[in-house]
Amino acid sequence: MKNTGDMMSYRPNIVNFTLAGSNEKEGLYEFKMSLADGTECRVFSQRHPEWTLTNISRLLTTPCPVCHKDFICKCMDQFHDEFLEQINAKQLFEKALS
Ligand SMILES: [Zn+2]
Repeated sequence: MKNTGDMMSYRPNIVNFTLAGSNEKEGLYEFKMSLADGTECRVFSQRHPEWTLTNISRLLTTPCPVCHKDFICKCMDQFHDEFLEQINAKQLFEKALS
């Protein structure tokens, strides 16, 4: 296992963000998010009162870029704020829903 230095140096970069499902009435959305390193995640979001990410889970298509496990891990949770910042900066919610 790698040391925690990986966690500190890893910087996710969202390259694709698409709508995977929604419940408009409840303001709940599911997105598929791809990162520059090939990592794919499923993201659950809530729209009201403002957009928030309620859950981020890595799809098991590739090993985790942080801990290198190819099974479930919690690493992506560490980047919750980073993801939300990128999504807002690139207006990915609006683009995915348009
Ligand atoms: Zn991990």
